[in-house]
Amino acid sequence: PVPDHTSAITFQELQEILLGTPEAANAREWSRYYTSGPHLAGKNYSQAEWTQNKFQEFGIKSHIVAYDTYINYPLGHRLALYEKADSEVVDGTSDLDAWKVKFEASLEEDVLEEDQTSGLVDRVPTFHGYSATGNVTAPYVYVNYGTYQDYEDLIKANISLEGKIAVAKYGGIFRGLKVKRAQDLGMVGAILFTDPGDDGDSTEENGVAVYPDGPARNPTSVQRGSTQFLSFAPGDPTTPGYPSKPGVPRQPVDNAIPSIPSIPISYVDAIPILTALNGHGPSAKDFNEYWQNNLGLEYKGVNYNIGPSPDNLVLNLVNEQEYVTTPLWDVIGVINGTLFDEVIVIGNHRDAWIAGGAGDPNSGSAALIEVARSFGEAVSRGWKPLRTIVFASWDGEEYGLIGSTEWVEEYLPWLTHANVAYVNVDVGTTGPVFSASASPLLNKLLYEVVSLVPSPNQTIPGQTVGDVWNGRIGTMGSGSDFTAFQDFAGIPSIDMGFGPDPGIPGKTGSAAVYQYHSNYDSFHWMDTFGDPGFHYHATIAKIWALFTAKLAEAPVIPLNATDYATAIEGYISKLEGKLDAAISGIPSDGEELEIRARPTPTGAKGDINELKVSFHQLYKAASEFKSAAIAHDALAAQLAEEVKDDIPWWKWLSKLRLYYRIRKVNDKYKFLERKFLYKKGLDGRSWFKHVIFAPGLWTGYAGAVFPGLDEAISDKDYGNAQRWVEIIETAIYKAAKSLK
Ligand code: GLU
Ligand code: CA
Ligand code: ZN
Ligand code: ZN
Repeated sequence: PVPDHTSAITFQELQEILLGTPEAANAREWSRYYTSGPHLAGKNYSQAEWTQNKFQEFGIKSHIVAYDTYINYPLGHRLALYEKADSEVVDGTSDLDAWKVKFEASLEEDVLEEDQTSGLVDRVPTFHGYSATGNVTAPYVYVNYGTYQDYEDLIKANISLEGKIAVAKYGGIFRGLKVKRAQDLGMVGAILFTDPGDDGDSTEENGVAVYPDGPARNPTSVQRGSTQFLSFAPGDPTTPGYPSKPGVPRQPVDNAIPSIPSIPISYVDAIPILTALNGHGPSAKDFNEYWQNNLGLEYKGVNYNIGPSPDNLVLNLVNEQEYVTTPLWDVIGVINGTLFDEVIVIGNHRDAWIAGGAGDPNSGSAALIEVARSFGEAVSRGWKPLRTIVFASWDGEEYGLIGSTEWVEEYLPWLTHANVAYVNVDVGTTGPVFSASASPLLNKLLYEVVSLVPSPNQTIPGQTVGDVWNGRIGTMGSGSDFTAFQDFAGIPSIDMGFGPDPGIPGKTGSAAVYQYHSNYDSFHWMDTFGDPGFHYHATIAKIWALFTAKLAEAPVIPLNATDYATAIEGYISKLEGKLDAAISGIPSDGEELEIRARPTPTGAKGDINELKVSFHQLYKAASEFKSAAIAHDALAAQLAEEVKDDIPWWKWLSKLRLYYRIRKVNDKYKFLERKFLYKKGLDGRSWFKHVIFAPGLWTGYAGAVFPGLDEAISDKDYGNAQRWVEIIETAIYKAAKSLK
């Protein structure tokens, strides 16, 4: 039987609906709803139901999928600085009663009259996801950003770390890795603070008013966040690689989450702790260059001495967490396709660290509701999509991408067969600057779509988002829900949104600081500074909807293989540059963060020159892939032309030959990204299967290209690098062959 794809509207009409339906005023209402109370992972069932009801209201069938997940909730915490008035301290443990509290950290963000959710009685305490319960009293050391090399610098300078508490700045690398290194070095606790020096120009010091009077970070704001180690797999740490369904076996978590307590603090709470170190140990200002930047508390009297704190000064750090295995809820809405058994998945996480979460993630959640409403509107006007669209509202992203990872792990066979692309929006907007990272297969489509959506901010009338964007598309790292799709399932993915304006130096007030994971990422902040008028909310909804529609509705799947081939050539030359740098001993550009983040390699293994020669193989494979890609894209373009003249569509069904030609081209596109999966996975983290993209092993957020090869070169293990050249080469040839 011929499927009925008698759509009552044309693509042009669909596009008009999708660009015309999202409303700023609605987005504002949805944002207000989502940000009106706490909705931590596993504690947002009413919001899951609300989201499901919204989908249903728009005519989108939906259901809630639950996963039993191991996570923590905060019970209590304390941070106090103790001083012994009598400086003659006898070695060994000291009796705390003989000590006086010099400073008791509030561990609270100020309640602001203007900002309703900042003062909720049930507001979420400041804490770290997956942090360990503990009560430790010890001297402390300032460890800069807490990168691997920051700790190494301290070891080289003979600063004793064992038994001490680490005080680290946020920034650079994923926070869990800072705690991990402290733990590995025998430190007993970690305190992470936000240094205003890392906020660029938009600080109080630079004359920008602090929230709520202006956009600058409120001094009491605290960045919560997960401190899992990102070691082997995202998702529930007890079920790496398989879904957390009730009754499944659970793995030990010792290598996945910290065993020493940690807490996040504001810079207001950090100042007395840092100031007490003044004069003790070397100052960061006299240390190497990596310690001298962004010392944003100097104007508050902090000299950034490293310590350790003298014997008469200790910190008491208490962190009390309750660990439970509890359901998390993904909301899954579906509009069934009517012709192809292919699916486009779009998603955003719903859980937030705080009552608000107006930027992260609910600017995306509000947009998702508008996207669903727009598609619902199209369906009610008689639109029948060619392909299925799945709308996902994930839970548990913040703890470790849990809702999306468990779902991908559960539906892997179906997704492998049917999923064309995954479209992620986490933070929809916290400012006016568009940014995206994507599999190169999706680059072309993104350029096309942003050039069709008007920019809310125009210096020349009629400008589109594409016109005011720098056009740079990043590589896929990690930090949001695309990770399982891209790196585990080999599904081309994109992550996009609007972020803060980095600011015009010297022009105060030009930048809206993002109140990331703090109580002030609230509706009031968004309404006043982040996106007054909610036009960027509506705009990201339009981009998201149109991007999805083109994937779902173009008869010939609008992926572009040539862009992938070109990107691969670039990645090869990037790694060749890294190899040349290793040969010459001069680090290549952009390697700095990674070098700071990882251990210094031990002696070289294998033959570096042989490895260098083998790069020819990679270029050869890439060039073969490129020819195949160009030919395939040309064939696809030609088919797309043919079909265009054949509207209305369903007529093809009388032309089965054309239909099957299209299927064949589409299958090749659909399965192309899967060719870059390597069954055994990356060294030491086999969950990560993609040979081209992965989060940096030592940085967490930043993406690495050819991660296996990259890490082997970093380790100076040229034998292993050679092995990776072969794995990559095989994958590229497989990809090339698949297109022929
Ligand atoms: N997006 C969250 C964060 O950056 C979670 C990232 C993760 O656990 O991978 O804190
Ligand atoms: Ca799992
Ligand atoms: Zn987020
Ligand atoms: Zn977040």
